[in-house]
Amino acid sequence: GRKFVVGGNWKMNGDKNQINEIVNNLKKGPLDPNVEVVIGVPAIYLAYVKSIVPDTIGVAAQNCWKVPKGAFTGEISPAMIKDVGADWVILGHSERRTIFGEKDDLVAQKVAHAIESGLKVIACIGETLDEREAGKTEEVVFRQTKALLPAIGSNWDKVVLAYECVWAIGTGKSATPQQVQDVHASLRNWLSTNVSADVAAKVRIQYGGSVTGATAKELAACPDTDGFIVGAASLKPEFVDIVNATQ
Ligand code: 13P
Repeated sequence: GRKFVVGGNWKMNGDKNQINEIVNNLKKGPLDPNVEVVIGVPAIYLAYVKSIVPDTIGVAAQNCWKVPKGAFTGEISPAMIKDVGADWVILGHSERRTIFGEKDDLVAQKVAHAIESGLKVIACIGETLDEREAGKTEEVVFRQTKALLPAIGSNWDKVVLAYECVWAIGTGKSATPQQVQDVHASLRNWLSTNVSADVAAKVRIQYGGSVTGATAKELAACPDTDGFIVGAASLKPEFVDIVNATQ
């Protein structure tokens, strides 16, 4: 079985006070011990969060650069993320792609270097509203995934795929369980053809986009959904309910 994995993506939110509250709430839980939990923290707070969070909770950066060090003002490397004790990085988030102009090939270079450096990766894919309405959802998701194949190579055990439909992010308008299941199932099918049946069966696929404590249970019931990546609700006490959605 694929272990359910729930990511919280805090995005550019929180200060020490709010972080203390969020972490205290996670400590209080109780969190389903069968679920892997990873919190995606602003880079400047990675070390602080690592110092206060239980080791059972993974800590992720929300971005990184594609080489270990050098003259790249403002960037951080996977080596630095590891150095402060974090194990994960979220890459290819739609906000990175749309606001910061990251293209498939750059995302792939980052994924390759992050894996090489020993980080685990939550790799995000997903279509915009225009793309969905034009009937291009599968085409887009397959294209974004295809770009990652050489970067991932045989390291699929280091990767979680996050399907986040852009139109559902921060809109309060989650995809329906059926929409999620359709995309996850066709993605798994595509992986079976283009990578291997083994990878298709084992890789965990998260759904992201306006997941809340109220919607998590029915979304978690989709057979091809192996977790969530949660934005706004990951800052709130209901994140615990989302982690526990399979109970
Ligand atoms: P929301 O849960 O706020 O819609 O954000 C989803 C997301 O982008 C997680 O990475």
